[in-house]
Amino acid sequence: MNSRIKDIPLRFNEKAVLRLLGRRRPDHHADISPRLRRQLDKGWEDIQHTARPEALYAAYPAQGRERGVLVNGECPFHSRSLSRIFHNCEQAVVFVTTLGGDVDDLILNRLKSRPSYASILDAAASAAVESAADHVEKHIRERLGQGWDTTRRYSPGHCDWPVRDQKRLFSLLPHHHLRIRLTEGSHMSPRKSLSGIIGVFPEDHMPWNGNACLFCQNIDCPHRRN
Ligand code: SF4
Repeated sequence: MNSRIKDIPLRFNEKAVLRLLGRRRPDHHADISPRLRRQLDKGWEDIQHTARPEALYAAYPAQGRERGVLVNGECPFHSRSLSRIFHNCEQAVVFVTTLGGDVDDLILNRLKSRPSYASILDAAASAAVESAADHVEKHIRERLGQGWDTTRRYSPGHCDWPVRDQKRLFSLLPHHHLRIRLTEGSHMSPRKSLSGIIGVFPEDHMPWNGNACLFCQNIDCPHRRN
């Protein structure tokens, strides 16, 4: 199973945008001034208009090992959390999704003329690329059909998975059509891109419900998932 997804629908997650903007109470609509409301609406409109969201993914046999995950018999990903989650899995799907380079240019341009609006655009784009990754997860689950369970998605640089493994992940993607390049520090350009791995298990055989947060000791982690 490997493929390219084009024309990914983006979902506006206002709560996520407000959280990224540093709001402590993103649920409180009364805290949103009319000016901020206008900027949020305009920001989302600009991101939707500029983004060209697409994704690539590929599936491989995979196995959790003591200190990481073996994908296609080689190329280990170094993470103890992933090794527990991927223990006894059948496959792993590696993926990357991006909003495209025009979104970076838009944010950069506004940074010079309207820095506060640029931070709203930046937060809206970050939430948008998460929604693109949600779509990729959903697409993969639908393609697998009944009889299979999938883990949460995990990305290099998060939890205890070093960002340097990004290079290994990219080497597993089928063809690099999406014009995403890795910097020396293994960060992606365009910036509003997201890569990761999803484990695939026979139904009812998935440890920890596929969620490393259920055993993680990092109690202050802001990214904890239920
Ligand atoms: S709590 Fe945070 S660090 Fe721990 S597994 Fe979850 S997302 Fe990763």
